[in-house]
Amino acid sequence: MRDLTEILGALPAGRISLGEGCIAAHSYDAWPVAVKWRQQGKQPCRPDAVARPRTTEEVAALLGACNAAGIPVTPWGLGSSVVGAPLTEAGGVVVDLSEMTDTLAVSEDDLVVTVQAGKRGDVLEGELNAMGFTLNHSPQSLDRSTVGGWVATRATGQLSSLYGGIEDQLIAIRVVLPDGRIVQTRRTPRAAIGLDTKSVFIGSEGTLGIVTEVTTRIFPLKPWRRLETVEFGDVDAGLAAMRAITRAGLKPFLVRFYDVDEARHAMRDPGYERCVMFLGFEGIRLLAEAEHALVTDLCVECGGRPVGSAGAEGWMGRRYDFSAIENVLADPGGVAETIEVSDFWSGIGGTYLALKAALAPFADEVLCHFSHVYAQGTSLYVILIGRAADAAAAEVRLREIWDTAMRVCLERGAAISHHHGVGLARRGFVERDQGSAMIVNRAVKQALDPNNIMNPGKLGYAARPASED
Ligand SMILES: Cc1cc2nc3c(=O)[nH]c(=O)nc-3n(C[C@H](O)[C@H](O)[C@H](O)COP(=O)(O)OP(=O)(O)OC[C@H]3O[C@@H](n4cnc5c(N)ncnc54)[C@H](O)[C@@H]3O)c2cc1C
Repeated sequence: MRDLTEILGALPAGRISLGEGCIAAHSYDAWPVAVKWRQQGKQPCRPDAVARPRTTEEVAALLGACNAAGIPVTPWGLGSSVVGAPLTEAGGVVVDLSEMTDTLAVSEDDLVVTVQAGKRGDVLEGELNAMGFTLNHSPQSLDRSTVGGWVATRATGQLSSLYGGIEDQLIAIRVVLPDGRIVQTRRTPRAAIGLDTKSVFIGSEGTLGIVTEVTTRIFPLKPWRRLETVEFGDVDAGLAAMRAITRAGLKPFLVRFYDVDEARHAMRDPGYERCVMFLGFEGIRLLAEAEHALVTDLCVECGGRPVGSAGAEGWMGRRYDFSAIENVLADPGGVAETIEVSDFWSGIGGTYLALKAALAPFADEVLCHFSHVYAQGTSLYVILIGRAADAAAAEVRLREIWDTAMRVCLERGAAISHHHGVGLARRGFVERDQGSAMIVNRAVKQALDPNNIMNPGKLGYAARPASED
């Protein structure tokens, strides 16, 4: 246990907890390996204290004190990371932002909202909906993740084919640097005034500072929506259709394509024998109907068969439901993992086959879907479900799954993460994935956090604060 005397006075009384319950709650996130640690009674990522600031100024006071004392700081949104990103192996203080929930400003003219970073996604979405607006950022974890967490992990959502990821929505951030200085990036629709400072912090996973306020785009709720389900005989045909849709410049708000193994789950039909695509169109009815017609024509040209809206509507109704994975993990021997990667169109078919074959020995089911499309390529989301003898064996199996999946991606030149980030799960693979870009990444880290107090050991950076070297 570290000596925390010098920081305990940095926040008002009662906002820094040394209580066992609070520390235990911040020792595990939603990473399946962490779930297995908890089931075994292991606690390898145990903070010394948990702080709950409510204002940017309180965060600044806390970081200034931690920096002076060389105490590690790990930001925490709601702990929905599935890769161990908010877990600390270096001890120190976990800074839980979940009490920073104010909506600070909404501009209906400019279509922007500014919130404190600890705001939960579904709460903000509900507030906006009541005013006739939406974020159009819709991760499956909307009801268990924060706006600041989205920025810190470069999150994306189920509507990304039309609206992009958080990097496309973000207008500005307020961030506290490790030494306690406060930076507000410029609020503007676009500017050509040197670096895009906010982008340095997107995906930084708490290693460069703490985001305390976020200004992001909002959209008027759309007046009209239509869904479609299209069956395909094989994965190649569906991928060809996805590529054709993006090449034509068409932008359905929903494009999700399942291989036959996951299609059985997506269609809720154990006997289902085809691959399936869910598509969604929205906006002005005339345009959205035309887009629906053009996209379904392209699907047919690629061998698809439109079968109506029911399959896609069923999925939309349960799109935030993660219980199938959670129920498997709740059993100590249960093995369930989700790994998302991405590749160019020229490589994704091969990456799909290589991952499916390499991971098959580790699980009873290896399910795959492609759900974020770009003109250049797509994401690939792999779900593994299996069983091991007990929680310890399940942990070993999960580690093998990660090692295998990351090795296959690196060998093929595929990106090792599409949106979940690095955390502890992928940290051993960052250096190879990033190559010479690590020169810049390390220089930024050294410039902003020379004492390495921010989330040590993540993103390929040193594991301990500089004071302990
Ligand atoms: C059921 C489920 C579904 C999911 N679906 C998606 C999905 O569709 N798309 C997607 O992108 N992700 C998804 N995720 C992953 C996860 O929800 C995201 O990574 C999310 O952005 C994390 O937000 P959080 O607030 O819970 O952050 P945490 O998990 O608490 O932290 C994540 C990382 O961000 C850092 N961090 C958090 N807040 C701040 C801050 N204010 N300033 C600086 N650093 C900070 C932490 O230090 C950590 O490194 C899913 C997770 C689950 C459990």
